[in-house]
Amino acid sequence: MEEKREIIDMKEMDFGFAEEIISYPGGENLRKCFACGSCTAGCPISEIDESFSPRRLIRQILFGMREEVLSSPTIWFCLLCFRCYAHCPQKVNFPDLMRVLRYLAIKSGYAKPEMLDHIQEIDKRLQIFRHDLIKYDIAKHTSAHYQEPSRK
Ligand code: SF4
Ligand code: SF4
Repeated sequence: MEEKREIIDMKEMDFGFAEEIISYPGGENLRKCFACGSCTAGCPISEIDESFSPRRLIRQILFGMREEVLSSPTIWFCLLCFRCYAHCPQKVNFPDLMRVLRYLAIKSGYAKPEMLDHIQEIDKRLQIFRHDLIKYDIAKHTSAHYQEPSRK
């Protein structure tokens, strides 16, 4: 999938942004990224939303686009599934970078602190939905008796 080109305004660049992120655990290999795109190619969110690109987010961080990155809704879309990390030849830990970006977004007032709990709740509900759909589907195709799972 071809990524959108964007015009970078030099006045809005924060040259300390990348270093700030590197200083957090998980940020160590950020500058080793050579923009190969393997992370984006294997990402389940990029597959359904072309505005979400780990490769592009890393470029934006390296270019110091602090406000654009921290205010972007895309930093909340990541599933933290570590698929991109497994594919990355440079061992750039993108999921941990996302955790840092979310922390900084909240700290800088771009997002509310409750956002982390909301996302955890959404993920839990989606896992229940997926689990039940699969269980229902298996039961339907094996004629096994389907039982509603009990929830805590
Ligand atoms: S896979 Fe790794 S090196 Fe390649 S673009 Fe993604 S983060 Fe950079
Ligand atoms: S951790 Fe996030 S960016 Fe990486 S593959 Fe999973 S959803 Fe995509």
